Amino acid sequence: MQLIWFRNDLRVHDNTALLTAMQEGPTLALFLLSPGQWRTHDDASAKVDFQLRNLRVLADELEQLNVPLLVRTADTWDGAPTVLTELCREHRIRGVHVNEEYGVNETARDRSVARQLAEQKVGFNPHLDQLLFRPGTLLTRAGSYFKVFSQFRKACLQQLSLAPPRCLPLPQPQKPIGIHSDPIPASVTGFATPDETLRAHWPAGEQAARQRLQLFADDHLHEYDEQRDLPAEPGTSQLSPYLTTGVLSPRQCLHAALMINQGELDSGNTGVTTWINELLWREFYKHILVGYPRVSRHRAFRSHTEAVPWRDAPEELLAWQQGRTGFPLIDAAMRQLLATGWMHNRLRMVVAMFLSKNLLIDWRQGERFFMQHLIDGDLAANNGGWQWSSSTGTDAVPWFRLFNPITQSQRFDPQGRFIKHWLPELGELDRRDIHDPSPISRAICGYPAPIIDLADSRARALAAFRNLPPPG
Ligand code: FAD
Repeated sequence: MQLIWFRNDLRVHDNTALLTAMQEGPTLALFLLSPGQWRTHDDASAKVDFQLRNLRVLADELEQLNVPLLVRTADTWDGAPTVLTELCREHRIRGVHVNEEYGVNETARDRSVARQLAEQKVGFNPHLDQLLFRPGTLLTRAGSYFKVFSQFRKACLQQLSLAPPRCLPLPQPQKPIGIHSDPIPASVTGFATPDETLRAHWPAGEQAARQRLQLFADDHLHEYDEQRDLPAEPGTSQLSPYLTTGVLSPRQCLHAALMINQGELDSGNTGVTTWINELLWREFYKHILVGYPRVSRHRAFRSHTEAVPWRDAPEELLAWQQGRTGFPLIDAAMRQLLATGWMHNRLRMVVAMFLSKNLLIDWRQGERFFMQHLIDGDLAANNGGWQWSSSTGTDAVPWFRLFNPITQSQRFDPQGRFIKHWLPELGELDRRDIHDPSPISRAICGYPAPIIDLADSRARALAAFRNLPPPG
């Protein structure tokens, strides 16, 4: 008997570990509930709920394939080797198949599970699935991991043009193996169930994910480059939770894009090529996680930036978290995050830069708050995005570049439509007043005054970075 141990790969189509396990013999499936570990990782309730909802759909899909899904608990991953070993003994499992995961804790977990299984003569088989390229297979001429995205991207495109990875077929159903599936819990203690509006925005299941991908590819992909920075428009795919949880694979996304662009990776429609770039940013940050594991350990990629004199400013942090900084675009973005578990990419950059530069609050505080609320929370992308915005990371924005939240607002939400949606109290303001309301308008609307002076805070941030010791 073979075991497929599902983690962030909750789908039956194009799933390397599942297909391989089923080709090798009768297969049983497992999912581990690890609430203690999820808490340590600051996983959001919305993300855990999304996983459970997808797990339920997955169980139905697996039933069509006659693959029973067992659910076990290992509160933290320290308990995973014992749970796996017992299960393998109980069901006479000969081989365990997993799709690789790349964080330091995930890697350590898999290593100790593999070691303990080996003692029982059970094989542990990791497969490349979450990424297009296995970390370590794309390196610079000097043999190190890339630190610059444009060079990494070039290497990816070269490889993809030679041999784009194929999507795998749905496995054939196996003969019933006479084992019952476990019920999937409706919730897990310590993780609140989000409201129905949030849930409805993120329907579970592969079919919903593939439909979203197809609609995006048909209706929006060709103008992605023009629309992707406008938060009031449906210009981006909103597929990130599905990619994070593995309800959709990067190969499926790549193929949908190539279909629209007559197979062209780097020429043809610029909407498509820009979107493929974003898939490669996802890839890049996961490679960074493996190549430079200190970023998983709360360290800055650029070590000299550890000396930035971050401010302890709990009230300003709270105002940022709750969306009441007095800067409408920042507040609207934070309210979008709190209500939907998701934030538009342009706004993630704007609010991250505001926290780490204008407020000069440690980027790690923002990274943590994002993880605690994002339905698509992903260590690599979140850490990469935060370190990019705070100029502490690889290929990060230069330290002297700060987004001005008012001009960003005028540029990317010119009519104030996004702001009005999330800050209905500003609904009556015209397009001149909405981005930075006058004191009178603020008083009438009951909207707070700005918590900081932009020019002063900019000067403070520049001084803090200018006075850093030189990079080692
Ligand atoms: P699209 O624009 O449609 O892009 C398609 C896919 O490409 C995304 O679903 C995502 O998987 C990937 N992608 C796009 N941009 C990036 C990027 N800059 N880095 C890595 N992958 C990317 N993304 C996450 O998936 N999880 C996170 O926790 C996360 N945290 C972030 C924190 C900050 C401060 C910043 C600046 C960015 C963060 N991102 C994160 C990246 C990006 O904002 C989201 O992936 C994107 O907004 C998701 O929306 P979408 O699916 O509509 O993206």
